[in-house]
Amino acid sequence: MRTCIGCQCKKPKKEMIRIIRTPDGKIEIDKTGKKSGRGAYLCGNVECLDIALRKNNLNRSLKQDIPLQAIDELRKAFLKNIGVIG
Ligand SMILES: [Zn+2]
Repeated sequence: MRTCIGCQCKKPKKEMIRIIRTPDGKIEIDKTGKKSGRGAYLCGNVECLDIALRKNNLNRSLKQDIPLQAIDELRKAFLKNIGVIG
């Protein structure tokens, strides 16, 4: 079980979206769940992403300040991932 950094609920790993900081410092969604890097988990729910961003939980979990542009791209990728936009 993993804890969502937005709503703090616990769910099986495979039901969650993993966000990682790659070794070269990029923030991306890890669809395979197998990439190396520091990771954080979120429900497949954009509200959870927004809570995590608002409370700086993502920065804290990934131990990195995330630039606004990266947040923007991450949010788009997240929406794509959960099927909100194509
Ligand atoms: Zn959540």
